[in-house]
Amino acid sequence: MSKLTIKNLHVSVEGIEILKGIDLEVNTNETHALLGPNGHGKSTLLNCLMGHPKYEITEGEVYLDGEDVLAMSVDERARKGLFLAMQYPPEISGVSLSDFLRSAMNSKTEKPVSLYKFIKEVEVASKSVGFDLDMVHRSVNEGFSGGEKKRSEILQMKLLKPKFALMDEVDSGLDVDALKYVSSSVNEMRNGEIGLLIVSHYARMYQLIEPTHVHVIVNGKIVATGGKEIVEKIDTQGYEWIKNELGIEVKKQQAKKPVLLETCAVKKTK
Ligand code: ADP
Ligand code: MG
Repeated sequence: MSKLTIKNLHVSVEGIEILKGIDLEVNTNETHALLGPNGHGKSTLLNCLMGHPKYEITEGEVYLDGEDVLAMSVDERARKGLFLAMQYPPEISGVSLSDFLRSAMNSKTEKPVSLYKFIKEVEVASKSVGFDLDMVHRSVNEGFSGGEKKRSEILQMKLLKPKFALMDEVDSGLDVDALKYVSSSVNEMRNGEIGLLIVSHYARMYQLIEPTHVHVIVNGKIVATGGKEIVEKIDTQGYEWIKNELGIEVKKQQAKKPVLLETCAVKKTK
């Protein structure tokens, strides 16, 4: 069994502290649900665990089986078994999904995966997530619908077989049938050798992929931890009870700086 340990993690973005001391431990036989209002740091946590350069870790530690994750490059983290299914998967023009998948798989193994084995695995994994196999010849995520992007993230996850999968709103953009497909495909992977950290706003997601632990993140801190009853509570009451029961004021999400038209539409002449 492997263990991912997060201790007192503080993270800033553009000089503003977003995470204010996160403590969390995930084992490979556990599924942790992470809920919380928008803008309170859920994606920040997942992205910084994977090593996104925009996030500055100002305090705290992260260990994977005792090894210092924060000292590792992004690719080292991936090779050690971390995987992030992104909330907004980027498009990579000119790189076919199949080349991308094959290089990613090869970078985790000593010997390159044979073409035959690769094709077989992609076929099986695509079928399992309901992903049209022809799409692997297209550039990564280019022109994919929201749902296709999410299925493609899960396809990568199936092929890379991570120890810890961080799944950021993979249910957004999926219709009911697609969600069933994706969730049963993820459930197939829950064999005691994978730890999941799942961000979703929806009880439906957690009915399909049942968490063993549930956490609520508010103002950059985990303010409540428990079981499925927390998901039900949020589903019926929203986040009002955080203030009423815990006495914690849920701060409004900071308004993002508006992008002024002049800055992108007017060319400087001087
Ligand atoms: P959540 O996933 O809980 O909705 P996020 O972690 O995405 O919230 O965002 C938390 C805060 O950090 C927000 O105020 C957001 O604007 C800010 N933030 C997150 N990522 C970035 C970024 N890459 N650049 C600027 N601000 C960011
Ligand atoms: Mg988010």
